[in-house]
Amino acid sequence: MSIISQIGFLIILALATYFIFKRVKYISKTIKLGRAENRTDQPHVRLKNMILLAFGQKKMFARPVVAFLHLLVYIGFILINIEVLEIVLDGLLGTHRIFLKPLGGFYPVVMNFFEVLALGVLVACMVFLVRRNILKVGRFQPENHREMKGWAFQDANTILVLEIVLMGAFLKMNAADFVLQTRGFGHFADSQTGSFLISQFLVPIFQNYSDTFLMVVERAAWWFHIIGILVFAVYVTYSKHLHIALAFPNAYFADLKPKGEMKNMSAVATEVKIMLGLEQAPETPTEIGRFGAKDVDDLSWKNLMDAYTCTECGRCTSACPANQTGKALSPRKIMMDTRDRLEDIKRGWIKNGMEYRDDKSLLGDYITDEEILACTTCNACVQECPVMISPLDIILQLRRYRVMEESQAPQSWNMMFQNLETNMAPWKFSPDQRLDWAKD
Ligand code: SF4
Ligand code: SF4
Repeated sequence: MSIISQIGFLIILALATYFIFKRVKYISKTIKLGRAENRTDQPHVRLKNMILLAFGQKKMFARPVVAFLHLLVYIGFILINIEVLEIVLDGLLGTHRIFLKPLGGFYPVVMNFFEVLALGVLVACMVFLVRRNILKVGRFQPENHREMKGWAFQDANTILVLEIVLMGAFLKMNAADFVLQTRGFGHFADSQTGSFLISQFLVPIFQNYSDTFLMVVERAAWWFHIIGILVFAVYVTYSKHLHIALAFPNAYFADLKPKGEMKNMSAVATEVKIMLGLEQAPETPTEIGRFGAKDVDDLSWKNLMDAYTCTECGRCTSACPANQTGKALSPRKIMMDTRDRLEDIKRGWIKNGMEYRDDKSLLGDYITDEEILACTTCNACVQECPVMISPLDIILQLRRYRVMEESQAPQSWNMMFQNLETNMAPWKFSPDQRLDWAKD
């Protein structure tokens, strides 16, 4: 590899690293917009959750075939990075297959393993493309779900095609390299690896070409492979595929309370306890902030991390009874809207400085009353989510804001609130008639 190529490689690597860090900085800054919330209790349970749910993808195995293919892509993605390390070192140091000497006879074993994984990733990605675009699995289709229109639908296809092309380049590179080794051409002659398990089937295609052409193919595949991976790494930070990284902290910091247990607002709970004489009123009343959430900074940091972790898989929406019965609510859209709001805030920062805030809000400009009021609080979305996201938590906080801050509840709810206040039950009976139903 010439010194010019090494410098070119260094520049590309530095640019990719710069863009990734810049993006990570903005994402963490938008997540920090959220309210503080302690999620560090029971570290052993949290660690177990992370291992089972993020690493082991436990919830995915409710659908075993898809889960197996997804696991294949995931393991392939993680392990092939070891091979990327070799490419990066070769690129920086101007070497060719730098790990061959230290690994010796073990090198072909490792490469064979990577090639089998690459084939697995390739097949799995093709199956996923077929499911989305030919079999048209309902929950991915923009015709059925408005949140899947445009970029959301293209994003998944882009990544799948990119992975197929990258794995193809890896296999092509190995096949062309092997043919050049057998011909004793240039520096390829010094790194005899033998043929590998999968790329050996491409060797006959390359046998008839000239040395120069093969060298161009090998180098083009090498550059394409590494540039593709760096582009992929930058792209992931803009895409739903950010869950590759965020699924781990998201599973670790997941809510450990039973699903049916709604979070009380401590200010309200204290007020009620004081009214019931269970607590003394403080001498100086504490300032109560906003009830519920109007915008992203009223939500907790975990709600905001949930938004960046959402894989847009739509399992929550498929299980949502409100969505199934044709209501406007889609829990996936709630998560995507929250992320869109964060991204819009970030764009405002880039354009107008870090203090800038537009006059929009999550509730009203992104999520409508109709959506949040349709929720039955059944928790099916929380149960289904493979990466431990709670769309319900966001819905409840938005709803609390509408009802408690703006007193805008539907008429039927107001009647129920009135009954609760006067009858201590949602029904229009006086408290002394409460047990009448049990007579006789
Ligand atoms: S909790 Fe609400 S959003 Fe979630 S599945 Fe049930 S109805 Fe749908
Ligand atoms: S919230 Fe969970 S289940 Fe719903 S789309 Fe996102 S990742 Fe999938």
